[in-house]
Amino acid sequence: MSWETIKKAVNADSVEPNLKHYDDVRATFSWDVARGELDGLPDGKGLNIAHEAVDRHVLAGVGGKTALRWIARNGGVQDLSYADLAERSSRFANVLAGLGVAKGEVLSCLMPRVPELYAVALGTWKAGAVFSPLFPAFGPEPVQSRMEIGRTRVLVTTATLYRRKVAAVRDRLPDLRHVLLLMDDPAAELPNGTVDLRAAMDQADTAFVIPPTDPEDLAILHFTSGTTGKPKGAMHVHAAVVAHHATGRLALDLHDDDIYWCTADPGWVTGTSYGIIAPLTCGVTMISDSEEFDAERWYRILQDNKVTVWYTAPTAVRMLMKRGADLAKGYDLSALRFAASVGEPLNPEGVVWGVEAFGRPFHDNWWQTETGGIMIGNFAAMDVKPGSMGRPLPGIEAAVVSRDGDTVVPIDEPDREGELALRPGWPSMFRGYLGQPERYENAFAGGWYLTGDLARRDREGYFWFVGRADDVIKSAGHLIGPFEVESALMEHPAVSEAGVIGLPDPVAGEVVKAHVALKPGFEAGEPLRRDLLRHTRKRLGPAVAPRAIDFQKSLPKTRSGKIMRRLLKARELGLPEGDLSTLENGQ
Ligand code: AMP
Repeated sequence: MSWETIKKAVNADSVEPNLKHYDDVRATFSWDVARGELDGLPDGKGLNIAHEAVDRHVLAGVGGKTALRWIARNGGVQDLSYADLAERSSRFANVLAGLGVAKGEVLSCLMPRVPELYAVALGTWKAGAVFSPLFPAFGPEPVQSRMEIGRTRVLVTTATLYRRKVAAVRDRLPDLRHVLLLMDDPAAELPNGTVDLRAAMDQADTAFVIPPTDPEDLAILHFTSGTTGKPKGAMHVHAAVVAHHATGRLALDLHDDDIYWCTADPGWVTGTSYGIIAPLTCGVTMISDSEEFDAERWYRILQDNKVTVWYTAPTAVRMLMKRGADLAKGYDLSALRFAASVGEPLNPEGVVWGVEAFGRPFHDNWWQTETGGIMIGNFAAMDVKPGSMGRPLPGIEAAVVSRDGDTVVPIDEPDREGELALRPGWPSMFRGYLGQPERYENAFAGGWYLTGDLARRDREGYFWFVGRADDVIKSAGHLIGPFEVESALMEHPAVSEAGVIGLPDPVAGEVVKAHVALKPGFEAGEPLRRDLLRHTRKRLGPAVAPRAIDFQKSLPKTRSGKIMRRLLKARELGLPEGDLSTLENGQ
């Protein structure tokens, strides 16, 4: 079925879009000019994310404006102004300085969405340390492996998460010097070797002078997954704030008086770039909800806070669609003027459903951990093609390419499929995978950064997502490396081989499915299946663990012994099996 383009008249909205004429802005845009929209540290001492996000608004005399409206489980709200955030982050920077945390050292943040999280992130940047968020629904294994790779010096978490995910493995993390705990139960005893976060912040000085910060200083370490091997630590620098700010304005169309809600958790890149940095540099009021998805709760938040710009994800859109447009119509969502979505393919039905439910289409956009910020999007003043990711941001050159070893050839002809590639050079581009230079180099060829996604571009320059070029799985917007799941399965005494794939799912996009072969003496059956599900859930956490497990006598492998995940998937879905010439024993 083909979907009609949703036409946009430039002056249709009461608010004039920041990116009014795409072609004009694209022709004149420069990253230097974008940098000029930020202040830089006083006295030319460089560029620091936290200064741009909070301190400069205080200096400009708007410190009293609400920066963060945090919504508690019971619906109660706590408002923090820009001045509050500036002060709290300075306190936290002083805590780090007092602990002797040095520039460039990594702080892992394993926190639920609580107000302290924002002060911790901003204070880390003020102190010159590197903020590395971890998703709180991760199990102990993903937490441990990421802290090992990052050589985490400081961990900030809650007493509960510490007990469940870190305490038992702490002695395996020799680089971890300091653990700061938010005590969920203030009456509870502080575990050995930890510091009470709130008490430390209360005692800390409220003033902190940000030391000189080179725009190329490391600021953020985000973990992402590949097809094989350990998670990859994508390194981002303070200069990334230029792209966060520019995309906040151009792609999310943020204006000073917006009430903005990004539903992504700051444990992932979207929740950091667009749930902390971009909204604050743009000086808006941002919403943070402590709870997980709930259709009625979400509509109530949109309505009661008069949210004007909403950034969410396709899985959430599909879950809302399941509840029907009438539910949405029961709420007053008239303040909402721009809705955007990212992270996985957004079905054209979802885009159009937005119009039906609250009179606004969802604007799909595309980017990834490595790009640090939005690269391709359906912008506010541009016609929306349902099902398309949109057009490249001004300042970004994107192409569909064919690749043969080191040779990369852009495909100029429209509607042809190839790998999505970007010309490096924008400020939020990752600067490497920590400790894995060869993986970083492999991501580039012929002057292009190769994204690992397959796409096509139509005659009007809109990009359309086709699929992944590799085996990584996107489930409910979370990127999952099959290798990490296979490794956890292999730790179980019954498993001799494991192959993990993503299966299509109408709501989550994909769900994780594992195929396992058993060691002699173990019996395939329901009790073992349940035990394996329990085992992986405990180790990996619910966001990563498989939903389904199948037993097989042995798994198809290449002659060099690599499990052929593609073949597992093709067989499961009844698709053509493709080239089987490397298959071992014709399995
Ligand atoms: P992550 O690094 O976890 O943000 O995941 C990035 C990957 O998510 C991309 O390489 C795509 O495979 C997928 N992705 C992100 N945005 C979109 C989108 N708008 N449409 C389709 N896939 C997307």
